Amino acid sequence: MRYISTRDKTNIVSSSKAIIQGIAEDGGLFVPEEFRKIENLDSFIGYSYNRLCKYILNYFFDDMKYGIDEAVDRAYDAKFKDRVIELKDFGDIGFLELYHGVSLSFKDIALSILPELMKLAMEIEKTEEDILILTATSGDTGKAALEGFKDLERFKIAVFFPDDGVSFIQEKQMITQEGKNTYVFRLLGNFDDAQRGVKKLFSDKEFIEELNKMNLKLSSANSINIARLIPQVVYYVYTYLESLRKGKLSKADKINFCVPTGNFGNVLAAYYAYKIGVPINKLIIASNENNVLTDFFRTKKYNANRNLVKTISPSMDILVSSNLERLLFDLTNDDKLIKDKMKELFEVGSYSINIQSDLFFADYIKQEETKNNIRIVFDKYNYIIDPHTAVAYGVYQKYLNETKDKTYTVIVSTASPYKFPNEIMDAFKITYKDEIDSINKLSILSGNEIPKQIMDILNNHKSKEIVVSKDNMKEKLLNTIKQGGSNV
Ligand SMILES: *Cc1c(COP(=O)(O)O)cnc(C)c1O
Repeated sequence: MRYISTRDKTNIVSSSKAIIQGIAEDGGLFVPEEFRKIENLDSFIGYSYNRLCKYILNYFFDDMKYGIDEAVDRAYDAKFKDRVIELKDFGDIGFLELYHGVSLSFKDIALSILPELMKLAMEIEKTEEDILILTATSGDTGKAALEGFKDLERFKIAVFFPDDGVSFIQEKQMITQEGKNTYVFRLLGNFDDAQRGVKKLFSDKEFIEELNKMNLKLSSANSINIARLIPQVVYYVYTYLESLRKGKLSKADKINFCVPTGNFGNVLAAYYAYKIGVPINKLIIASNENNVLTDFFRTKKYNANRNLVKTISPSMDILVSSNLERLLFDLTNDDKLIKDKMKELFEVGSYSINIQSDLFFADYIKQEETKNNIRIVFDKYNYIIDPHTAVAYGVYQKYLNETKDKTYTVIVSTASPYKFPNEIMDAFKITYKDEIDSINKLSILSGNEIPKQIMDILNNHKSKEIVVSKDNMKEKLLNTIKQGGSNV
């Protein structure tokens, strides 16, 4: 399959090129040139996750065929224990647990295989340089990316996390990171400072020149890259097939997915699953107080001119959802229009666009409601969900009230509650001394053992962080790389 830019349809590249480049030269995002429906989807019932994943990745990246099967088996191996994902069924709804990887968030699923796909693409494109992955993180991406690229030949990865911004667990996950090619920087500032600093490095000619001298090329691990998006299509197809297998659905039925959303990557993957034949009735787009997408789907006006609200579901605290561009292109098939609208967004922070689709429902809930929903789910199902998943559950309740739709619905669960133990204790109004205390209390309340991923970092007292300020990011990064440097 070939890929085209959302801002210029005549810009056509192979999948390996799209993966290496990340973003099109015209600023657009690469999307599949066409979507063919998969015939007889239900003949795949009973496939293991890896087997289905191989089929779907071969479908989207058919010019990289020779290496995909091994890539899948290397990505989804023992580090996910016996299951990559798990569908927990509670009658008329299910919770799709996507957080059994190393970082305990759904980002592990894409970031475990992205490095493998990049490596394949480098072989095909005969890329001479090695790659430096550079990422600013507000929490979940950092650990998942570090773990994905750890000790992978021809790659180095540097992550900048804000001193003021990430949670105790998220920080601990990053500073205890193993790997000779992983660099972890604590930036004295907030997430905006980190993101701005990293963006500046991507356009810093002198910096790129210095990297070239070391035979390094810059790349990023965010969901702009098509190789991060496509692996997420797999769990929607898998979940539909599992729901059929378990008799939750008959072949004539459709399914709903409710997705807690930030950058729109996860929803877009569900939309791509729909495009290749998963019979989806509604895609429910759930937001927190940063409800730009709710407003957009209700008014057709995207307006990012508002203050960012810091919430207890921080991975959804986003005002510009980059992957929406891919949906708008698909619905309009008009590259000139998309180019104009994205220019407007960049220049004035807003745009209106007339799109038509009955597939979507969008809404948001506030933080107090989010906490209430954590308690409601516990009372009803004796099951604890994290604040991001609780936003999705709360929005699903609003959807039910508005529509009375009886379709079987799967709530996409994006993080383990153990990543947000304090927020969970607050929701139950249980007091705690510190994070260790709240983690122990969460284990008692849920009746589940503390995940190994959490025990490992709590028992690890190493720290490989390098402290930097806004003004010396470049210098410290270059020095660290030159020294081959890691202090673990
Ligand atoms: C990143 C993230 C999200 C948002 O996903 P998008 O693909 O950016 O919409 C939701 N929940 C958690 C826990 C995340 O880490």
